[in-house]
Amino acid sequence: MQAKAVDILIIGGGVVGATMALDLQKQGVQVLLIDKGDFGKGCSFANAGWVTPCFSMPLPQPGMLLKATKWLLDPASPLYIKPEFSLNLFSWLTRFLLAMNEKKMVRSIEVLTAISKYSLESYRALAQSSSHDFSFANKGLILASGEKTGLKAAQKELELMQQMGIAGEFMGQEALLAFEPALKPILKGGVYFPHEAQVEPFALTQTLIKEFQKLGGEAMSGLEVINLKKVDNRISEVVTTHGNFRPKLVVMAAGTWSKNLVELLGCKIPLLGGKGYSMSVHGDFVKPTRSIMIVEKKIAVTPYDNYMRLAGTLELVNQDFDFSAKRVQAIENGARQYLNLEGVSQIDQIWRGLRPCTPDGVPMIGFSSKISNLFYSVGHQMLGLQSAAGSAKLASELILNKTPYVDPIPFKPSRYER
Ligand SMILES: Cc1cc2nc3c(=O)[nH]c(=O)nc-3n(C[C@H](O)[C@H](O)[C@H](O)COP(=O)(O)OP(=O)(O)OC[C@H]3O[C@@H](n4cnc5c(N)ncnc54)[C@H](O)[C@@H]3O)c2cc1C
Repeated sequence: MQAKAVDILIIGGGVVGATMALDLQKQGVQVLLIDKGDFGKGCSFANAGWVTPCFSMPLPQPGMLLKATKWLLDPASPLYIKPEFSLNLFSWLTRFLLAMNEKKMVRSIEVLTAISKYSLESYRALAQSSSHDFSFANKGLILASGEKTGLKAAQKELELMQQMGIAGEFMGQEALLAFEPALKPILKGGVYFPHEAQVEPFALTQTLIKEFQKLGGEAMSGLEVINLKKVDNRISEVVTTHGNFRPKLVVMAAGTWSKNLVELLGCKIPLLGGKGYSMSVHGDFVKPTRSIMIVEKKIAVTPYDNYMRLAGTLELVNQDFDFSAKRVQAIENGARQYLNLEGVSQIDQIWRGLRPCTPDGVPMIGFSSKISNLFYSVGHQMLGLQSAAGSAKLASELILNKTPYVDPIPFKPSRYER
């Protein structure tokens, strides 16, 4: 079969691939974006929808090991590492431990904040200019806590984020309950970040794809990449279930699946899935007016016009999509403790996704050090939606040999690629 010649082929039409396709196409580059399923139906589908630069924390943080060890045996805990004998898990965890230091964390927060701030402004501009609606709302985010330890953690986060130029204020119990009547008096207090935003994630990816197509970009769904052929250190052909391509450059944006795809080229990257769940809540109850994080339960609450989404848990797994009813129940129970949900009539759209997690919590964005026409944009962990547009800007600057707006070093794939 004759392979079709293309300039840039992006593999993966989640929010990361879609923002990149739009950014590159805007700069006059001809892009083909492909996905094995429907665009935006991977991890980008029913996440919490937060675009919250105040949450630019990488996964590895000093002190996390102690917490993770405590949570290891608790199937209802918000963070869980599935114990198994696997070289992949062992080497990922070793690198994760190495990244758990204050200096590394602060550097990661700086760059993650920069790409998240850029993304927020980019989605705001898109919401204003596009005829498609993705429920962009800029009402801020509350970190609410019912325990002293949680309150302390929220305060610490406020101090750290203020150093990064993000506005926020501490609220005591009375002030917080008056400000957000959906919360129950179990609350001790919290922190309010006024400039954070939320979107409907699937609608955002759909909008990005439509805007990309409007500019002449080609988007093909239902094409699964099944092989990557190489000659010397170059990808010569991308083999899919519906035809083959001969691209000048391949962009790997296939989320957690990227690890398996680059193995076809003899490359190894450390990516684990951070499994999380979400559900949609309907009924006659007092919906919060803005997004809320229940700090000690690590539950994200996102109100939309017709329903409310609850999301949470992070279970580090090796591409395992098993469903855990206990974890889903823990999210619902946690939310009921803090929000008055007596009037809930239906909970549906229970969904799970695998966040693509690198050991240091910073995505890999840059050229491969092994394959000359391979570019990575993978590993956006818990922040893929909120950092996608900023990642896309950095990626296109690197591809088009422009001066990057943010330091590209912390994102370099060569720190992990073998
Ligand atoms: C419960 C939960 C809540 C979250 N909340 C938030 C939040 O509020 N804010 C935030 O910023 N982030 C959040 N995240 C994280 C965010 O969802 C991810 O970081 C982000 O979706 C990753 O995007 P991606 O495009 O890299 O991956 P994906 O969306 O998974 O896209 C990868 C695409 O590659 C395609 N693909 C895979 N293999 C192939 C192949 N062989 N051939 C062709 N195509 C292929 C897949 O079909 C998929 O569409 C949350 C995640 C979860 C699980």
